[in-house]
Amino acid sequence: MKKGVLKKAVLLSLLFLALATNSWLKAQEIEARAYDFLKKAVEQVSEENITAAIKTLQNFKTRNLLSEQKAVNFGIGATRRWLMKEFQKIPGLEVVDDGYFLPKQGGRIVRDTELHNIVAIKKGKSAKERIIIVNAHYDTIAVSKDGKFNYEDVNTEAPGANDDASGIAALLEMARIIAPLETEATIHFIAFAGEEQGLVGSTLYARKMKEQGKNIEAVLTMDMISNIKAGNGYVDSTRVRVFSDDPNDSPSRELARYVKRVAEQVYPSFEVNLIYRADRFGRGGDHTPFVMEGFPGIRFTEARENYSVQHTPLDKIENLSVPYCADVTRVVLASLLCLACAPEAPQVTSERGAPLLGRGQGYEAELRWKWEGNREQIAGFRVYLRDTKSPYWERCYFAGQVDSFVLKNVSIDDWTFGVSAVGVNGLESLVAIYRMPSRRRAEYIFQEIK
Ligand SMILES: [Zn+2]
Repeated sequence: MKKGVLKKAVLLSLLFLALATNSWLKAQEIEARAYDFLKKAVEQVSEENITAAIKTLQNFKTRNLLSEQKAVNFGIGATRRWLMKEFQKIPGLEVVDDGYFLPKQGGRIVRDTELHNIVAIKKGKSAKERIIIVNAHYDTIAVSKDGKFNYEDVNTEAPGANDDASGIAALLEMARIIAPLETEATIHFIAFAGEEQGLVGSTLYARKMKEQGKNIEAVLTMDMISNIKAGNGYVDSTRVRVFSDDPNDSPSRELARYVKRVAEQVYPSFEVNLIYRADRFGRGGDHTPFVMEGFPGIRFTEARENYSVQHTPLDKIENLSVPYCADVTRVVLASLLCLACAPEAPQVTSERGAPLLGRGQGYEAELRWKWEGNREQIAGFRVYLRDTKSPYWERCYFAGQVDSFVLKNVSIDDWTFGVSAVGVNGLESLVAIYRMPSRRRAEYIFQEIK
């Protein structure tokens, strides 16, 4: 090689290296700025506000679905009116009373009643409808003096400070912090009722959303997020459990993984402990009816429960840790805000529901996807891989502004694949997973030979 040509080649490669380093640094800078935005929001969580909300809620004595509707400072009616006012105090929210009449039915709704979910809506600016639901339940229940559930007994003291005033306090705090911010997705902050009668309020709302064909990207339920000491003496104040339904490539499970990744990045002192099961053993929560309607939903609950005070007059703030409740609020807030400000996830199935995953030239993994938003708002797409047995993503490739990606000599049979969209603001969408289609039993015409 001639000296001049060599010099040119060295200069060119140096220039290329500088450009590559520069764009890499730029990407890092954008991501750091994105996380700064989330951190700033998280720093606004106030323990004073949480304390005040839990105290007010427990002072209604009971919030049993069938309790007093008309009293000023006692029972579920007074609670509901207070909640409406609290949401209405926050500028930028539309507050809706989602009310139902329920005639006496089953073993738990022992007389005719009204049920009201309180929904505070923060509109997003995305042209396409995108909805994220964050919720807690404001009703309570307590066992009677004999230690048993008696659904006729609606006036036993049921302060429900942990179950679930803690979740409602977090909900109000998040609404206050997020309302002034600009989000892409619309957020429904919902205080459900009738949870203790069998997830009644959330069942009716989930069904309504399904019937109206709403595009719900995520449902985040907070239920019991303030207890740190179990009855057996175990204490845990640095972790929260996040429950998500099987299988391992379900949208709910992916939502849980997203929350762990984002929250631990934004708030590293706290651990998100993913539990790979729909809920606690034999129990249900307000995320469940949404999952049953086909929406991704997860549940946040403290790491250690105290069974001796649950559903009793002892469920009071004195037995709880407000700093812990604030930490869980930070975790949910970071995840919620990231979801709401990130682009929509790509679509990885055809109109007929077939995964857009093929073998390319024969032995390749060829991933294709559709993304219909404004391309100027995204930096590109990220492709993810993991072993089918792995609980977390193992490999990640930046694919850029393309609609397909080929991995040479990678078998589509042996890996789970996903793809996300990364916004120019540095925030990333949920990862859409290429799921194995389920097979139906074939029907044949036959006669058995005897
Ligand atoms: Zn509860």
